[in-house]
Amino acid sequence: MGFKELKDKYQLLRDLMDFIPDVIYFKDKQGRFIMVNQAHAKGLGVKPEALVGKTDFDLFSKNRARKMAQDDAHVMNTGKPIIDKVERATRPDGVDNYVSTTKIPRYDDKGRVIGLIGITRDITRRMQFERLRKDKLCVEKKLESLEELSAMKSEFISTVSHELRTPLAVIKGLVTIVFNEVVGQINHKQKEVLQKTLDNTERLKKIIDDLLDISRIERNTLKLHYSLVDIVDLIKDSEGFFIKLAEEKNIRLKYVYPGEPVNVFIDADRVRQVIFNLISNAIKFTMDGGKIKVEVKILESKVRIGVIDTGIGISKADLSSIFNKFTQVSRLPGAENKGVGLGLSISKKLVERHKGEIWVESKAGVGSKFYFTLRRFYTLDMLGKSLRNKVSRLMKSGISMHFVSLMILNCGEFRKRMRISLDSLFKDLHAILVLVLKNAKYSGADKQAMSVINPKAGKFSIILPGASSRQAANISSLLKYKIKQYFSSNKVEDVFITIGSLSYSQKVLSQDDGFSPSRFSIKEIYIGSEMRRFKRLSFKTNIKLFLPDEKVELSESVDVSEGGICLVIKHLLKTDSELKVSFAFPENKESIITAKVRVAWIKKIELLFGESFEKYKVGLEFINLENRCKKIIRRRLLNKS
Ligand code: ADP
Repeated sequence: MGFKELKDKYQLLRDLMDFIPDVIYFKDKQGRFIMVNQAHAKGLGVKPEALVGKTDFDLFSKNRARKMAQDDAHVMNTGKPIIDKVERATRPDGVDNYVSTTKIPRYDDKGRVIGLIGITRDITRRMQFERLRKDKLCVEKKLESLEELSAMKSEFISTVSHELRTPLAVIKGLVTIVFNEVVGQINHKQKEVLQKTLDNTERLKKIIDDLLDISRIERNTLKLHYSLVDIVDLIKDSEGFFIKLAEEKNIRLKYVYPGEPVNVFIDADRVRQVIFNLISNAIKFTMDGGKIKVEVKILESKVRIGVIDTGIGISKADLSSIFNKFTQVSRLPGAENKGVGLGLSISKKLVERHKGEIWVESKAGVGSKFYFTLRRFYTLDMLGKSLRNKVSRLMKSGISMHFVSLMILNCGEFRKRMRISLDSLFKDLHAILVLVLKNAKYSGADKQAMSVINPKAGKFSIILPGASSRQAANISSLLKYKIKQYFSSNKVEDVFITIGSLSYSQKVLSQDDGFSPSRFSIKEIYIGSEMRRFKRLSFKTNIKLFLPDEKVELSESVDVSEGGICLVIKHLLKTDSELKVSFAFPENKESIITAKVRVAWIKKIELLFGESFEKYKVGLEFINLENRCKKIIRRRLLNKS
């Protein structure tokens, strides 16, 4: 090997030693450093040359140096290397760390030991990682056993509650027999006692039912049975009952409904249970002379039910736990008022199963406002009661339901461009429908299409019981084609026709047990001058929210339509309060949209592990959005689709 080659090789090794993050050193037989790399010198805060000739005793504490010398001696005396010995060490800067040390003996050409090579590596991170992994495993195990325990507990509650039901029913039956004097006359005093007994068995029954419900919900065995109902009808059904109950406490109970039906696909019994719970709570926690308002408000694509009372309210500290199991915060005198604190947690779960939101606003001493939302099927709002019942009946018997809905968007505008009246337009559309149904071979005893026409609103709904998904899709696309033809043959140009599917997707349905026997879908055919409603678009931008206290909050992700926006924020806003937002689409920063909005709904977001502040998803509806802004949003929506 020539000198240059040798020099190159030496340089190579030198570079390797100096750039490697590990500590590397050579010691002679007496433990003196012959050569150390940059990492070693740097760790001790000196230059490498300064260490030559020194021993560990010059650098470290006596104890530590002695241990090192022992290892050195072992390696050199026995000729056996020490590989990857993990030790705790204190760095010169005082930080405790873990190191892995390797010591290998060096020999001369006669095979005699002349010293050693040492390599020390900082493995603090690896050890921390290992520790974390172990901790994680431990937590996971604990969690698993907790889950098991919780499942066992739910099962136990379920079994016990079931067992309690039968004897309770027997007690109630027997007491009723005595109360009704079937087995002999009783006096007034005895009757009073029995009445109290009956009231309490009723309370006990309610508690057992609640326990069964919560255990069903937790074990995921609660089945929902959906049907198409008008939520206004559903609430009206119990109006008399609650008004009477409120009157007994001298409370004024007022109902506020929208002027039109609000169709929802829900498990009517379960939603009734939520409404019952909220109104009974309001009555229970409102004092003599107080007021309660039950309001149904139509939002863009949801309906919101609010129960607002002037009762004792809930303190700020208690608000966050109010929907938890077994939570009771406002203590009332009187045993008859005692519940078990399950009503609200059941209500929350039920609303969430319906894909709705539930939230509360309250001030101790002032009153409480409980709200929840349900998804609304605005396209089906025109279905009358008898048709709705028919649909629900058919669905209950397991017949699949498909809806095709024609909507004339911007109806007023559109009418100006038509030479014929809306009435005759809809007559023509109906004739097209009949033709299409015939073409699609959809008819027969069990398959009778039902249609409802509302020319004023520009709506035309067709219900196709028992149609297959394919048939329904065929019918709607054929309809779209024929309608297009119709307009062009009538020389009405620039007609906007598109098909959109609605809300409950098949995927959602399959997860949702109650829906499975009668699958249902809605196809919409929009006709009109331009796209108008319900298209939503998600994007990321900074959205400025001007809060009531003149603070400004920035929110990142937005989901917007012409009706409103939806965002995630840290501030808890008040339902129905009005504020201002401003934002711009990322690719069109100059066109700033500024709008007044109203808080329509709120959903508290469950905190993830490690997150420390509350977050809320809020739906904000635009109030009189400027035409200029409408145009910007509309343009953006059309671009995307
Ligand atoms: P319970 O069946 O025991 O009433 P809920 O889950 O329905 O249980 O309610 C839990 C607690 O929430 C109640 O005990 C009460 O402290 C509080 N609460 C519920 N509704 C109201 C209300 N309208 N006003 C004041 N406090 C309420």
